[in-house]
Amino acid sequence: MPDIPSNINGVTIEFSSSVNKSVGPRITDALKLVVKTNIATGKVLNKLYISSANDQHKSPSRHVQGKGKAVDISRINGMKLSVYYNKDPAVKAIANAIQNEFEKYQHRRENFGPYFKKKLGKAHAMSGHGDHIHLSVN
Ligand SMILES: [Zn+2]
Repeated sequence: MPDIPSNINGVTIEFSSSVNKSVGPRITDALKLVVKTNIATGKVLNKLYISSANDQHKSPSRHVQGKGKAVDISRINGMKLSVYYNKDPAVKAIANAIQNEFEKYQHRRENFGPYFKKKLGKAHAMSGHGDHIHLSVN
């Protein structure tokens, strides 16, 4: 199973020290789709911080299912979503664009974040996720 690379489409990927980067291929495929410098019009994505991948969660979380089916993104360009999503227009635009783009991935499952919470393409009521984007795959 592949590790999440430290650079995706020119974007530097940083990891929390507790992250197990070993994930299923659909997660790396999804990241290649949604992580790009020009994901949001007029803004530049340089750096993403992954706070969790195949770790830190208990079953039935997608994080620890199979070879790893979920990833959490908590900082954009070094700025924490919890602090900057509502303060920095670029952080918000990039977060929203990542969530929108992930909806186009055929194997998407959960797409939870500050912009919206969807499961299998439908609005999904659930608490939290104002401070990170959680993406999972089938
Ligand atoms: Zn998560």
